[in-house]
Order: sequence, then structure tokens, then C-alpha cells
Amino acid sequence: MTAALSSETVDVLVVGAGLAGLHTATVLAERGHDVLLAERRPHLAGAIRTTGIFVRKTLDDFPLPPDCLGPPIRRVVLYPPSLRRPVTLDSDRDEYRVGDMAPLYEGAARAAVGAGVRLALGTRYVGRRADIYALDGPAGPTRVRARYVVGADGARSRVARDLALDRNEHLLVGGEEVFEVAGNDGPPAFHCVLDPTLAPGYLAWVVNDGRHAHVGVAGYADRFPDGLRRAVQRFAASAPGLTGTDRPEEVERRGGPIPVGGLLRRISCPRGLLVGDAAGAVSPLTAGGLDPCLRLSALAADVLDDALRAGRATALEHYDGAALRASFRGRLALRRGLAQVRTPAVAAAAFAALRTPVGRAAARRILFGDRSFPDAA
Ligand SMILES: Cc1cc2nc3c(=O)[nH]c(=O)nc-3n(C[C@H](O)[C@H](O)[C@H](O)COP(=O)(O)OP(=O)(O)OC[C@H]3O[C@@H](n4cnc5c(N)ncnc54)[C@H](O)[C@@H]3O)c2cc1C
Repeated sequence: MTAALSSETVDVLVVGAGLAGLHTATVLAERGHDVLLAERRPHLAGAIRTTGIFVRKTLDDFPLPPDCLGPPIRRVVLYPPSLRRPVTLDSDRDEYRVGDMAPLYEGAARAAVGAGVRLALGTRYVGRRADIYALDGPAGPTRVRARYVVGADGARSRVARDLALDRNEHLLVGGEEVFEVAGNDGPPAFHCVLDPTLAPGYLAWVVNDGRHAHVGVAGYADRFPDGLRRAVQRFAASAPGLTGTDRPEEVERRGGPIPVGGLLRRISCPRGLLVGDAAGAVSPLTAGGLDPCLRLSALAADVLDDALRAGRATALEHYDGAALRASFRGRLALRRGLAQVRTPAVAAAAFAALRTPVGRAAARRILFGDRSFPDAA
């Protein structure tokens, strides 16, 4: 699937073949544009940086291949630091499914190539001068002239820096272990532990859908007492939701930064734009970025399509993070609240509120609600 590169000219250079880059590139190629997608990883099944929980709205609106999705999850169990008297919330609808991300990325890459995208794996974007972009790949350095560039290169986007666009400053780091499980004692469930000693400023989680278990933590990097990896190990030793499962010796490890400062304001300029984590398109509260990255990529592809057809970059002015950001206000406030939960005593007190009918209703709204990334169209 890897395109051979020499010095060349393209309509759009997309940097990064995560879900955001794959989606943007595919839509643009389907509309007849010449798209080069450069990804530094040599294959898309490695170095995965997501648990892969897809929410109902995404499953409803985007045609993800069903054979790459785990069983539906309707149950969320919330735990205080003591793990005692958890709050169980059951939905009467299928709320989540966990993607089998390696085949899902590979399938998306095949679809991209099928639509005409030239995919250059093992190829890193290293810098730009005017409309010439420097890549470094298996065949050595290459220069690509592109009318537009798309920064789909994740939370610490180099494209954002080179285009002098906004950059993520408010980040969590997350890490998890993933392993296969043979069946389950209970229904597929998503377990969340509010314990700032394990996950400072966020949550520790177990997702066990009866096929795979994901055991992870996320939080502010400088607040982990002995580092992220150790926090994952400590949590894994006592994590709930794993009764009847055996953790194998070898597990897959995933991890990465998660931007939680809300959508960035300046995400486009006449030379290009940002999508996905590079644009800060992640829910500041839940840290979910898969739905936002798909929705923002669809908008990005529309805007670029307009700009390419009209032959004018002014269309990119409509790709405005400041306007979309307004709908994140509530979630940003809740993020600030979660960041303040610094001791197990405060977490336990917050949990007391969660046990009330009002608290449960609020948790249900956040976890089972219909809100997602604003549909900018
Ligand atoms: C541990 C963890 C668990 C998560 N779990 C969930 C979840 O369950 N549900 C959810 O909704 N969200 C989750 N998120 C967030 C979600 O995964 C991201 O928001 C989403 O995957 C972002 O997609 P993306 O395409 O923007 O970025 P990425 O998937 O990070 O893709 C960026 C790509 O750019 C490539 N790249 C970077 N620099 C260069 C370069 N210079 N040249 C070429 N290529 C480059 C990278 O190799 C990478 O493939 C999680 C995040 C983490 C860290």
C-alpha cells in the first residue's frame, strides 16, 4: 500500500494516518482530488494510541466495519477510590463498542487507497518552506509541493507549529494494557475509577467486553507520583471488572497524550488546516476524541474541496475553531472541576454526590447522552 515517492506535486498533503488523516484523505480523494497521505509509522497495526471506544452517535453516523467492533456495551460502573459501593448505570440502548483498532486502521487505509489516496508509510513530515513540504521516507528525503497541507499528526502537531497555528497546551497522558479475554462473568461493561492517586485529574478504567480487556489510567503527567507506566501496573493489580479473566504474561501496551483544552481557536490558514488531536478536537471532560476527529475531518474535507474547486484559499476561513469552541464551555468547566479532585477524600466526597438521584441523572447525561462534537455543517 505504500506509494513510491519522488519529488512531486499534489493537491493535498495529509500528514498522519490516524483516524482523522485517513478520513480526511479518503473523502478528498473520493471527490477527485490528488491526495498524498504521509505516515511515519511503517504499518498501521503498530503503536496504537487509543482504547478505541466508539460512542453510539459515531456508530449511528459513520459506517464502521461491524467485524472490527466488539460487542455492544450498555453498562457503566463508577467506583470511588475504596472501590466499595460502586454506582452501576445501565442504559436501555447499546452505548459503546470497542474497535479492534489494528484491522480497523488497516481497513480504513485500504479504503483510502481504493479511493485514490497515495499512502506513504514509514514517511515522516520534517518541515516546510512556503508550499514545499519535506518528507523523509524509505527512499530518503523527498520534497512535495502541495496546494494545501492537513495536519492530522496528533496532539503534538509539527504541522501546527510550522503553519504558526494554535497548539495544544493542556494535555493529559494516558496508558493502558490490552489483552484478550475468553468470555465474561457479567455483561460487557465499562468500569471507571475516580482515584487521583492512580489517575490524577482523570480516571482509571477497565473496559471488558468479553473479548478484550483494556486496563488503563490517564491524568496530568506531572502529578503521577511514580510515572504513568507504574500507575497502570498498580491499577492492574487491583482493577475491578476482571473477575474470571486471566491476564497473560504478554500484553499489548498503548499510550499517548490527550489534548483536553478544547478545540483550538486558530486551526486554519491559507496554506492548510488541522484535524483531530492536532486541532484539539477531543472532549475536555470524557477525553473522547474518535467522534470529534471523524466529524471535524468531514468538515475539513468540505472546506478543502470548496477551496480546491474555487481555486481560492478564502474558503479555509470558514474552518474556524473559535466559532465551534463555544459549545465546549460546559465540558471545559467540568474538566476544571475534575482537575481539582486531588485527594482520595475529595474523590470520595464527589462520589457521595454521584449516589444521589441528581448525581446519577447527571452521570447518565454525560455517559449516555446524545451530545457529541458540534456538527459544524
Ligand atoms: C490511551 C488513550 C486512550 C484513548 N481512548 C479513547 C477512546 O476509547 N475513545 C475515544 O473516543 N478517544 C480515545 N482517545 C483519544 C483518541 O484516541 C484520539 O483523540 C484520536 O485517536 C485522535 O486521532 P488522530 O487521527 O487525530 O490522531 P492519532 O491517532 O494520534 O494519529 C496521528 C498520526 O500522525 C502520525 N504522525 C505524527 N507526526 C508525524 C510526522 N511528523 N510525520 C508523519 N506522521 C506523523 C502518527 O504516527 C499518527 O499515526 C484515547 C487517547 C489515548 C492516548
